[in-house]
Amino acid sequence: MQQAACSSVARAPAGCASSSGASARRHGAAAGGRPQRRPLRVAAAAEAKEVLERAADRSGVQPADFDARAFRRSLNSTGRYTRKPSNDPESLQLMEEHGVGYSTTGLVAQMREQDFTWKQGDVTVKLAEAYGFCWGVERAVQMAYEARKAYPGKRLHITNEIIHNPGVNQRLKEMDVNFIEASEEGDKDFSAVKEGEVVILPAFGASVQEMKLLSDRKVQIVDTTCPWVSKVWNAVDNQSRKGHTSIIHGKWAHEETIATASFAGTYLIVKDLKEAHYVCDYILQGGNREEFLAKFQNAMSEGFDPEVDLDRIGMANQTTMLKGETEAIGKLLERTMLQKYGPAELSQRFMVMDTICDATQYRQDAVYKLTGAQNTPEGIDMMIVVGGFNSSNTSHLQEIGEMKDIPSFWVDSAARIDVDANKVTHKLAHGELVETASWLPEGPITIGVTSGASTPDKAVEDVLDRVFRIKDPAFAGIAPRKTSVTKEAHEEEE
Ligand code: SF4
Repeated sequence: MQQAACSSVARAPAGCASSSGASARRHGAAAGGRPQRRPLRVAAAAEAKEVLERAADRSGVQPADFDARAFRRSLNSTGRYTRKPSNDPESLQLMEEHGVGYSTTGLVAQMREQDFTWKQGDVTVKLAEAYGFCWGVERAVQMAYEARKAYPGKRLHITNEIIHNPGVNQRLKEMDVNFIEASEEGDKDFSAVKEGEVVILPAFGASVQEMKLLSDRKVQIVDTTCPWVSKVWNAVDNQSRKGHTSIIHGKWAHEETIATASFAGTYLIVKDLKEAHYVCDYILQGGNREEFLAKFQNAMSEGFDPEVDLDRIGMANQTTMLKGETEAIGKLLERTMLQKYGPAELSQRFMVMDTICDATQYRQDAVYKLTGAQNTPEGIDMMIVVGGFNSSNTSHLQEIGEMKDIPSFWVDSAARIDVDANKVTHKLAHGELVETASWLPEGPITIGVTSGASTPDKAVEDVLDRVFRIKDPAFAGIAPRKTSVTKEAHEEEE
């Protein structure tokens, strides 16, 4: 992964830093009252300004005391901001026609009526009890469809992808929605966005710098950010207001974490328990400051100083990380602060709020349940995980199968499966794309299936269709049938 470029409006990497912002925040806090917000805003403003200049736009410089949370709230009063779906029936109908939501008639819908199991010739499929589109993703796609209908004559843009699913994004492109995609360096060019046009923010949110830029440009903002993600933003904002550094369990290059970091004051992003241990060791014993700064160069706020900024910390997370690991990191941080400062000071030194998304948690729990009995006659022989290759929550579903030594195949669409050659191209949890020939064995097989929170049921149905065709060349497809289990009932079951 390349280091984030200083010109990116979405990122405020510490590698671009020159000032001692974090220390300044600490010193500002000592003056009494609410701690000063760190000068990340200045760097962010400079980045926004650079992009604005490239777009030949004059506005965009933010004051040093820019309040991200208040700014986002203020968007409500502009008359150019929508953050709730309108539940337009025609848009919902179109989503169903496009296969970008829950299945109501296909194989997945029919499996829900049959205890999440299906037998097709030699193949037994066991579907995870929680899988596929989560509430927040469905809501985001619905809002995008509603926006397309609500602004028929206007140019529509999306900052990056609406969700991490290639099929859904393709559908929106076909509906003449322009995607403002990030370059490999994370840079985004907003020059195509003009005053009066409509810009959709994705389910995983957008950085406050992007929101500010778009607001200044007087576009209509359709903010589909999932409320669970907003909850994390509130958590890091609270931590910042109390002068705590936010330790964010996430991937520094992931859009959601970039957005969350933009709402934080001082922050440090740890990607796993190993990195968290490194930080905790530093808190307890000190360490090599230069090594620390090099290790987290892309994953910390501007001016971060481990000697100063780890004395009061708060825990936050990318909502799609492995739940067990997030909890373990939270406990580790708490234990560390307890050991260093003692019980009397713990509440002043450590903040935590439960921001693990239920949908992510349920999907992970369901895979644990599905894969728990792999060594018994009722167990599964392999897992198929369906979801976008850049979907974090899907990668964690794949990870569970791999951890349990179950052959596990992550595909982003049915196109990865070659029926004639019995071959699959699939991704491993750590990112490698591999090809497996002679994929499905002769004879009976039991396959566990799940899908990421950005994956419509149709993608799973298409994958299983190819599986059935490999095992039985005469397979003629599953006849659609209206089912009694509605998507609402399915969500309630979760
Ligand atoms: S996975 Fe959770 S946080 Fe992400 S969009 Fe779905 S409900 Fe929201």
